[in-house]
Amino acid sequence: MRDEINLRAYGKINLGLDVTGKRPDGYHEVRMVMQNVSLYDSVKIRIRRTPGIGVRTNLPFLPTGPDNLVYRAAKLLMDEFGVEEGVSISLYKKIPVSAGMAGGSSDAAAVLVGMNRMFRLGLSKRQLMERGMKLGADIPYCIMRGTALAEGIGEKLRRLPSMPECFLLLAKPPINVSTKFVYGNLKADSLPFHPDIDGIQRGLEERDLAAIASCMGNVLETVTIPAHPQIQEIKDQMKASGALEALMSGSGPTVFGIFTEREAALKAETKIRDGGLARQVYMARPFHVDGGNRR
Ligand code: ATP
Repeated sequence: MRDEINLRAYGKINLGLDVTGKRPDGYHEVRMVMQNVSLYDSVKIRIRRTPGIGVRTNLPFLPTGPDNLVYRAAKLLMDEFGVEEGVSISLYKKIPVSAGMAGGSSDAAAVLVGMNRMFRLGLSKRQLMERGMKLGADIPYCIMRGTALAEGIGEKLRRLPSMPECFLLLAKPPINVSTKFVYGNLKADSLPFHPDIDGIQRGLEERDLAAIASCMGNVLETVTIPAHPQIQEIKDQMKASGALEALMSGSGPTVFGIFTEREAALKAETKIRDGGLARQVYMARPFHVDGGNRR
């Protein structure tokens, strides 16, 4: 049994996010193209003598008890498998929090994968994904990673070809957008547009970045942009600086821009910072899983 493991929990963006209906239980049916980015949180798990789960993080405002998703992920497996040792989890967060980048879900996915390996629980990827689903709809994707189509409430996954190489500029404006508010105010039956999710898939198959960009869209912008016009301003700034396209990720407020030239992305970064639109701005690349890429 290994007594320490280090993992990377990558953030994601949505190249497309469509809502196709609302279920009787209140959940929305979605069609989303998920793409990991190179920005990641570091997750270290250590076995300790004292029983229980300890969580430490570099962000003082994050919960360290059962409200942290890494705590819940560890507890789920420890309860099911009667693990008697305790674990300490150190979380070094770089993915912006409450940003639409699934940071918490990715951290939880890393803990499930890490605990399975450390304690030799023998769960397959599929079995881990089933357990992840109990903690959050995005967690199965965060276990799968890479490029994927997510349907249902996000849990039905199909792997897609990797996104072509490019520069991804990520900018999170200093506003808080709750996922509940966004879905709660979405007029799912009368959306003014739908992104071309099938077109994005074709663009991925043909490795055509311009085609992917021309099909992108996120219906959740119909709620967040009227409430927070600075999201539109960031998109406009990225496009004026040469982005093929710029879009809000998930329920926001992070905006990502797709650039073929690093210089253009750097110019957009400077403009966004200098214009006071966002301080949390990151240059990233698509993150691919190939050849069994370890975490
Ligand atoms: P999503 O894209 O899945 O909607 P998000 O980017 O909007 O996720 P997260 O950063 O994953 O949001 O989670 C934010 C909320 O979850 C905050 O209220 C935070 O306190 C809580 N949380 C619990 N565990 C974590 C974690 N490990 N990292 C970040 N936030 C966490």
